[in-house]
Amino acid sequence: MKKIILFGWIVFVTNSFTLAQSLKVNDTDFSKGRLGNIQTVELQDLVKFHGHLCDGLVEGFVALQYGLYQLFPDSLIDRTNVRIVSKPSPCLTDVAVYLTGARYQFGTFYVNSDFDGLYIVQRIDNQKTVNILRKPNIKPEIIDRMGEQAIAGNLAPCDLEKLRKLEDDYTLFLQQNKPENLFELKTLSEFVWKPVLKNDFTKTDILNKNAERCNK
Ligand SMILES: [Zn+2]
Repeated sequence: MKKIILFGWIVFVTNSFTLAQSLKVNDTDFSKGRLGNIQTVELQDLVKFHGHLCDGLVEGFVALQYGLYQLFPDSLIDRTNVRIVSKPSPCLTDVAVYLTGARYQFGTFYVNSDFDGLYIVQRIDNQKTVNILRKPNIKPEIIDRMGEQAIAGNLAPCDLEKLRKLEDDYTLFLQQNKPENLFELKTLSEFVWKPVLKNDFTKTDILNKNAERCNK
């Protein structure tokens, strides 16, 4: 058991807690199969797909799960019946395609930076659409501030480690609070599905791949 102090609160965490997040999904059962192949997707699976555990991945998981449960009240996500628009972050987009089964080439996924919040997700059969937004003052501002410096290549090696620690603390905060306290869901009744193909977003999580190690 590890003790951390976060935003003035003391919280106790176990290391395994970080990866405990999971979601039930329903898919077809073979290449020409019928719906009914129910599987559990865990955060750990998503970590392998994405490449690492990070605050963006957990934020996407927690936020999208919350939004999807609104569209699928039985908590079983039909991955043949969802389409989604994601903000361009490498973490959020990976969560979007992995959890929903949506793909650009099949008209069920696209990326746009021009809307409020993290995702817009729609259940196809009834067109019910929710916009998923982070509530104000949830994410420590310093993470984005230092993140921008890191993207610009201006963060010293040991400051990269500081940023990592801040992101890890935020990750735990996300997992230890109820999604309704972290995120807001807005029902969109007039949403228009307007896919755009854009492939010049920056993959910000590889920019520091050759940065020097912190030797402190
Ligand atoms: Zn990431």
